[in-house]
Amino acid sequence: MSECLFCKIISGEIAPDKVYEDDDVLAFRDISPQAPHHVLVIPKEHIATLNDLEERHATLLGQMYLAVKAIAKQEGVAEGGYRTVMNCNHDGGQTVYHIHLHMLAGRGMQWPPG
Ligand code: 5GP
Ligand code: ZN
Repeated sequence: MSECLFCKIISGEIAPDKVYEDDDVLAFRDISPQAPHHVLVIPKEHIATLNDLEERHATLLGQMYLAVKAIAKQEGVAEGGYRTVMNCNHDGGQTVYHIHLHMLAGRGMQWPPG
């Protein structure tokens, strides 16, 4: 049994507030939302960090962004806009070591990020 939190969500051991799913990608609401809309898009394959990406994952990353596009439309924020972020390792602010794309929307975003 995996010790990875997001693998437990994928296996159904922990039930997420799911917003999107296909064969390769799952998306659910962040438990501690940092914006009115805060969704995490994850691959069903366990990949710990961006540093662990391989050439064979290239299409999967594209699928994650296509999922964001679909979710933005579904959530009604596509026109207003949104931000996507993927944190990597300690200095990047990563706390869950299964890659995930944050999708944040529903308020104006600041730049540069903190
Ligand atoms: P990171 O800091 O790794 O970029 O993002 C991890 C995100 O996972 C955080 O925004 C955090 O709120 C979210 N998170 C942590 N545990 C859970 C959980 O059990 N369920 C959900 N839905 N989100 C979680
Ligand atoms: Zn995992």
